[in-house]
Amino acid sequence: MDDRSYMEQALALAKEAAQEGEVPVGCVIVRQGQIVGRGRNRRETDKTALGHAELEAISDACKNLGGWRLWDCTLYVTLEPCPMCAGAIINARIPRVVYGAADQKAGSCGSVCDLFSMAYNHHPQVVCGVCEAEAAALLSDFFQRLRLTLKTRPKWRPKQSLQEESDEMESANCRIGSACPDCGAAAMQLDPGKQT
Ligand SMILES: [Zn+2]
Repeated sequence: MDDRSYMEQALALAKEAAQEGEVPVGCVIVRQGQIVGRGRNRRETDKTALGHAELEAISDACKNLGGWRLWDCTLYVTLEPCPMCAGAIINARIPRVVYGAADQKAGSCGSVCDLFSMAYNHHPQVVCGVCEAEAAALLSDFFQRLRLTLKTRPKWRPKQSLQEESDEMESANCRIGSACPDCGAAAMQLDPGKQT
């Protein structure tokens, strides 16, 4: 299989993420023609900022290969790695990274910065733009749908405090004439029948 075929496997994982309401990013790690690690974004599902596709795939590969040095592997990811994931790639000694779409906001393999060219102890080779159009389309479709959902759902309204709710109930009770220690007394004073 070539780079494109492996990236298609990563794209399939990104689609799975989108189906679960996650930003669609998928990742596979390949060693000697075999996929040894898989991951996808799970930040919302797992409620963790660490739930990035690359971290999950690196963890999966380390578990499957029985060690933390992934020195003969290639990592394929649909979106340019962020600084956290680029750091994990350096720590795992992955020699080659292939990504799809560039990330102008957090990409750390050339967009915002290039961690792999800095004075760290490991310098992975990078190939960018593989299946770029598909990866970018998945992301833009996802965000377009999200914007539509936010536009059509009922407007957010702050929850009233218990005191405000109880004040509102009390004034409603007064309006319908039921007993209310403060207003009831006032009403009795204003009642002409009770005046002497
Ligand atoms: Zn990341």
